Parts: sequence; C-alpha cells; structure tokens
Amino acid sequence: MRIAILKKDKCQPRKCTSECIKYCPMVQTGAETVVVGSDGKPVISEDLCEGCGICIKKCPFSAISIIGLPEELKGEETHRYGENGFVLYGMPIPRAGKISGLLGENGIGKSTAIKILAGLQVPNLGNVTAEVSWYEIIKRYSGSELQNYFDRLSKGKIRVAYKPQYVDAIPKFFDGTTYELLESTDETGESKRLIKAFELEEAMKTDIKALSGGELQRVAIIACMIRDADFYFLDEITPYLDIYQRMQVAKGIRNVLEGKAVVVVEHDLAILDMLADYVHLLYGEPGGYGVVTLPKSTNRGINEYLSGFLQAENVRIRDKPIEFSAHPPRERQEERNVFIEYDGFEKRYGEDGFLLEAKPGSIALGEVLGIVGRNAIGKSTFVKVLAGETEPTAGSKALTGLAGKPLQGLRGGRGGAPTWGRAPQSFDITLSYKPQYIKGELDMKVKDFIYSLNGGLREADVIDVLHPLGIPEIEEKSLKELSGGELQSVAIAACLCQDASLYMLDEPSAHLDVEQKVRLIKTLRRYAERREVSMMIVDHDIYLIDLLSDRLMVFNGEPGVRGEIKGSFGMREGMNLFLKELGVTFRRDESTLRPRINKIGSAKDREQKEKGQYYYL
Ligand code: ADP
Ligand code: ADP
Ligand code: MG
Repeated sequence: MRIAILKKDKCQPRKCTSECIKYCPMVQTGAETVVVGSDGKPVISEDLCEGCGICIKKCPFSAISIIGLPEELKGEETHRYGENGFVLYGMPIPRAGKISGLLGENGIGKSTAIKILAGLQVPNLGNVTAEVSWYEIIKRYSGSELQNYFDRLSKGKIRVAYKPQYVDAIPKFFDGTTYELLESTDETGESKRLIKAFELEEAMKTDIKALSGGELQRVAIIACMIRDADFYFLDEITPYLDIYQRMQVAKGIRNVLEGKAVVVVEHDLAILDMLADYVHLLYGEPGGYGVVTLPKSTNRGINEYLSGFLQAENVRIRDKPIEFSAHPPRERQEERNVFIEYDGFEKRYGEDGFLLEAKPGSIALGEVLGIVGRNAIGKSTFVKVLAGETEPTAGSKALTGLAGKPLQGLRGGRGGAPTWGRAPQSFDITLSYKPQYIKGELDMKVKDFIYSLNGGLREADVIDVLHPLGIPEIEEKSLKELSGGELQSVAIAACLCQDASLYMLDEPSAHLDVEQKVRLIKTLRRYAERREVSMMIVDHDIYLIDLLSDRLMVFNGEPGVRGEIKGSFGMREGMNLFLKELGVTFRRDESTLRPRINKIGSAKDREQKEKGQYYYL
C-alpha cells in the first residue's frame, strides 16, 4: 500500500514550474496521476501513482512524500486530513480506572487522537471525499472497546473533559481572575484541594492574563480536573513546570481522578512513567502518517521507545538506543580550563524582596552546566548579574572571563582546546539568553527572522545549529503558525546563532518530543566544545539533565522569597543535593538502567535515602 503526502505549508505553486506534474512518467503517458487541485496545489492519485519517487526529488520545496506502508494498515485508517493529508491509523483505548499515556514524536497524531476521543473532531475513517456516518464509525470498531465508546459519544452520553496542548491561548478566551475561572468551572468541588496541592493560592486573585506560563499550565490542568466527567484528556502536562510541580500534578491526577478514565500525552518520560498505567506508542512519519500501537505496560513501552525498536510491531523507530548509565560520568583528575569564575555575591530586589545568595563558583571552557532548581528561585537573576545587566547588592561584582586557567575535577574527554602558554586573560562576558516563555506573534518567516539576528548568520551556524535543529524544514513558515516544538527549536537556534561567550537556555525542552530532545543534547554538547564557549542549561526534565550535563549547579531555597546557590558540583554530588531537598530517589530499571522515580516511603526509597544514593548507584 502506498500513500502520497503533500505538505501544503511547504508547497508553493507560484514559485515553481509544477515539476511534480511535468516530470511524472505516468503523466507523460497521459494518466491523471498528478493534477492541479482547486487550491492551485497538486493532487496526487494514490491509485495511479507507481511510486517512482521522481516528484519527491524534483519538488524544489520538498513538499511531497510517497510512503510505502504494510498492507495490514489498509482499512485501518482512523482519520485523514483531506486528500494527500496526514493519516492516523489505530486509536488509543481509554479505560475506566486507568491512566493511559500517549508517547510519540511531534506531528505523529497524538492531539488528533485525543481530539477524536474527546468528541472535538469526528473521524472520517480515511474517507476524504464522502461524509462518514456515526453508524459506519461504530461498525468499524465493532468487537473492540471503542465500539461502545463511540456509540455513547455519538449519542452525547459521555461526559468528557479536555485540556488543550497550548495553554498560552487561554488568556485570549477568558477575562477575569484565576478564582473566577476555577469558580465558574468547578463541578466536583475539588478546586480548593487542588489549588492547595498545586500551591496556587497566591495566584487566585491574579488576572489570568498576568499569570506566568507555569501558573497557567496548572490552572488549565485544574480546570480540566474539576469537570464532572467520565473521561479526562490531558494534552501535555509538564511544559513550564519545575520538577516539584510536575510531581505534584502527577500525584494530583492520580488521587483526584481515581476511578476515572484518563488519557495523557507527555514527553517527560520520568513523569509519564510515574503517572501512566499503560502506554500507547505512536510511530510513523511526522506530518505523513502515524500508527497508534496497542497498549503496552508503561515500563515496557518506555523501554521499547528508548531502545528504538518496537517488538510486537517489528518496527525500528530510531537507529540508536538512548542509554543511561547507573554511574555518574567519571570525574577525571586531568585539568580543564576555567572559563568564567565568579566571586560570591548577593542580589536583593527592593527593600525586602527576593534575595539570591551565590557562593563563589566557576564554569569551564566547553562545559555544559546543568541547572536544577525550582521556578522563581533566582536562576535568571543569577545570569543577569553574571552578564552585568544588573548589579549585585552585596559581595564583589561577578567577574569575568578567565581564559587559560586550569580547573580540576571535571568530566573527561570533552574540554575545549587547551590554551596553555597563554597567560590567563580576562574578558567581558557576553551572554546569549533564551527565556523560558517564548512568544511567536510576529508575522515573519522563520528564515527572515533567523537571518535578521544581531550580527547576521555565521556560516558555521547553518551546519552546527540550523540543520541539527531541523530549521530548514520549517524556514518558509511564519513564526505565527509554528507548533510549540517548532517555535522552541527556532528560539533555541536564535539563541545559539548569536555571538557570545556564555549561552543560557531556560527550559529548552518545553514542547520538544523525545527525538528532538536527543538532537538538542547533541547539538548543545557539540556547540560548546567546538566553539569554546560555556553553556548553562536550566531544565526540569531529569533525563535530559542527566544526558546533557557535565556538572550541576543546584539552586535551593523558597520560590519567590529566597534562593541559594551552593556552587557547581560533579553529577553525583549535584543530583544528591538536588534530590535530597526534593525528597525523591530514583531506582534503576533492571534491564535498561533507566532511572525511575521511587514511591516515597517505599522500601527502596528508604534504603537509598539511608545510603545517600538519590540518583546514581
Ligand atoms: P501531535 O499531537 O502528535 O504533534 P497532531 O495530531 O497535532 O500531532 O498532528 C498530526 C499531523 O496532522 C500534523 O503533522 C499535521 O500535519 C496534521 N494536521 C493536524 N491538524 C490538521 C488540520 N486541522 N488540517 C490538516 N492537517 C492537520
Ligand atoms: P527563576 O529564573 O529561577 O524562575 P527569577 O530570577 O526570574 O527566577 O526570579 C526570582 C524571584 O525574583 C521571583 O520571585 C521574581 O518574581 C523576582 N524578581 C525577578 N526580577 C525582579 C525585579 N526586577 N524586581 C523585583 N522582583 C523580581
Ligand atoms: Mg499535539
């Protein structure tokens, strides 16, 4: 079986000479294999197409894919977005009393599947030319649990609650305070308990439009959970939340929605692992087609996903497995060059506002320093002081680049080129910063935006940054129409394309799928080494922090009140410091060594706390 996909956002019939039609050998023999559709864009007949692949190569905008699929998928179409549009095969199965997770790349159909189950979109079973009746839909799923589900859904007998993927849009539709929003939606009387559990009391009087992204995310999750429904659908729950909040939300969902059917899309694997009873994986080709697998136990599903090979389906989704090591990266005694060194300082806002206390510390050349700690604990403040954007209120002014001074005890093998022989030189730190919240409101092409950056684009940026982050794929799109993951990639690229000595990225993993995170890790590591710069990466996805960081900087304290930096540590010590304050330990999956959150108070949790093994063995 063969499907032809036209990526309409890439196709630009006014800028080409209809190569897809001109060069098609079938068209040359007189067949109507590719014709011009009503919107001026080509329509490819899947029945007539021979699959020669010439149109794919000839299209100047890479807008066409012709994909060969196993015959078994024929007749399994759940939904198709128009002729030559994306096809979804299969369907997740919501079950009462269970939380099911959806795991798969962006653009593979997760939101589509959820919208169908939530009754927001009627599936067309792949039939793009004729209206499909509920009778046909129900018949298609006869004999499966979905038969009854769609039957009741079509008769309006199912009560559903839905949290959309993008919470940033909520302020556009709602005027009023958090209290007013939650008050008007509370059907179960659970809002009070959840507001307390999610530590949102302080935000109750705040206008929805003034909430931070992390607050908005939690408000949206609560607004969904307090609906009196049988089925709950949550499209991503962790973006903008720190790890404490992620765990609070996961626990809240488990407790409050007990007995209900819940479906959650989530890219933070440690959280998905903790939350879901079983998972459906989605594989295929983003923007082309997606196949929903049958349910797998959560542990097995995540392990298969990380390994890159789905056993029951006999499908390889990635060349290489993503592997974790039970031990921290070896801290070598060889010397590595200090790059930036700062004295201890304090920064207080106003008379008795937020206070940040930083002990002295350093960052090495070519180092990726992971930063862990809660939101509103002074991470951005710290960076602003380092960059000289704001003055410290006590202690010496944060210093200075120091090229040429050795630093001891760093993870081996990845230092920047040594600068022996040169005397330590101090220089002003220039900083490039990607904030946590990014807005894509400009009506400007990605390409024009990237090229308009300060100093213009350097040649190496195309190879080191744009390609690995997939920017050429989306360069013709407008910033306004990008998905969350695409916008994030553009913001990261924009940050890295600036010339600077220190790069600071705040939550680069928000909205990225697992594959994008893996590419991000590679990109950042290579960039730091090759360019001899340093990176500070704030992130709340513990797997990403583990795989990415050379060392850890740990922020402790009380959000909004006080923050403290003890310094930068090796991975073992850093993870211990961080997780000890959080009260969380990780055990290892026996077969893959994947870190898994321990149930608090379990035998393993208590044993590991006693031994001081919060993360590494
Ligand atoms: P995910 O949630 O896994 O990121 P989606 O379900 O949002 O994926 O989208 C899957 C694919 O379907 C996307 O790649 C996109 O090309 C296509 N798609 C989504 N919504 C529409 C739509 N309204 N019209 C046409 N194509 C769409
Ligand atoms: P993080 O980056 O860890 O989320 P920030 O450094 O942005 O934290 O902020 C820490 C605290 O300082 C927050 O409570 C924030 O509201 C407060 N804060 C940040 N900037 C200012 C400012 N210019 N004036 C007053 N308070 C501020
Ligand atoms: Mg989605």
